[in-house]
Amino acid sequence: MTTSRDPHPVTGREFASPVPPGTGWPGDPATARTPRAAQSADVVRLAGSARDVGTLDARISVCRACPRLVEWREDVARDGRRAAFADQPYWGRPGPGFGDPAPRLLVVGLAPAANGTNRTGRMFTGDRSGDWIYAALHRAGYAKVPWSRHAGDGQQLDGARIVAAVRCAPPGNKPTGEERATCAPWLDADVRLALPTLRAVLALGAIGFEAFLAAARRTGWAVARPAPRFGHGVQVPLVTPDGRVVPLLASYHVSQQNTFTGRLTEPMLDDVLARVRTLTG
Ligand code: SF4
Repeated sequence: MTTSRDPHPVTGREFASPVPPGTGWPGDPATARTPRAAQSADVVRLAGSARDVGTLDARISVCRACPRLVEWREDVARDGRRAAFADQPYWGRPGPGFGDPAPRLLVVGLAPAANGTNRTGRMFTGDRSGDWIYAALHRAGYAKVPWSRHAGDGQQLDGARIVAAVRCAPPGNKPTGEERATCAPWLDADVRLALPTLRAVLALGAIGFEAFLAAARRTGWAVARPAPRFGHGVQVPLVTPDGRVVPLLASYHVSQQNTFTGRLTEPMLDDVLARVRTLTG
C-alpha cells in the first residue's frame, strides 16, 4: 500500500492520497469538521439541509455512503495510479460541483473518471473528456481557458456549473442502480440551489439526461410522461416549480469512446452549446 506524500503538480505542496479534507488542496470545499454521510439516509439529510452551494460541495466531497465506490476510489488513489501520474497525489474523494455558484447553465455528466476527477478533485479535469468539454465551454464563452488540467490551474466558469449523476469514480465507469439512487439527493440539491438563476441544462450522455429528468421530477418540475428520450441535439422544454420554462438539451457524452470514433465531433458539440448560449444569454 502506498503511504507516501507527493507534491501537487501546481502548488508543489505535499499531500497524502486520498487527500484529507481541509489540508490545502486547491479548491477543496471541505474542512476536517465537514459532516460525512456514511449511509443513504445521511445523504438525504445532508443534501436536503444544504442552504448554499459551498456547503453542498463540502458535504459531497467527504461522502462515504457507497462502500464499493469508497473502496474503489481510495484503492485507485493509493495503489492503482496510472503510471503517467504515479508521482502525483490523488484526490481519491467524491467530485464536488465546479463553476459558477449562481449558474444560468447546469452541465450534468455521468461520474468521475478514476484518473481524471478522482486524481485532480475537479469535475472533468485531467483527462481527454475534460479537454473536450472545457474547450467547448471556452468557445461558447463560459470557461476562462480552453483546458482543465489540475485544480489550481486558473480555470474558472462564468455562468455555468458542472455536476454529475454520481460523484465517485465507479469501476468500469458503471455505477450500480443502488449507487445512482444513493447519490441522487446530491443532484437534487444542486437542481434546487441552481433554480433561481437557471436558464438551461445540458446533459452529457443518456445517464446524465435520465438523472436530470429524475431529479427535476423529484424537485417539483413538470416533466412529460412518457419521459423524453435521449438523443444528441434533443431539446426538451421543462417547467420549473416557479412556472418558468427551462430547456434540457442533450449531447453525446464527451467520452473517448465517442470522440475518438467521431460519433461526437467538435462542430456537433459547438452546435448544441451555441443553442445553450442563446438560451442563457
Ligand atoms: S457515489 Fe455519491 S452517495 Fe455514493 S459515496 Fe460517492 S458521493 Fe456518496
